[in-house]
Amino acid sequence: MKESLCICGGHVVWKKEPVKIKGKDFGELEVGRCDRCGAKFLHNKTMNMIEHKLKESQEGNIYEY
Ligand SMILES: [Zn+2]
Repeated sequence: MKESLCICGGHVVWKKEPVKIKGKDFGELEVGRCDRCGAKFLHNKTMNMIEHKLKESQEGNIYEY
């Protein structure tokens, strides 16, 4: 278990959680949550993967026509 600090000074606790963004299910990903302000964090790697998949599905819709 990694621990990082939030900008508010609270501790960010990382754990696996089901992630759903824009109606797309990404399964269980490592999500960080601040124990003080409740802010949510994602690893850069995870964010890139999500952006890539969202882009992919948008392009997929275009090619359906
Ligand atoms: Zn915080």
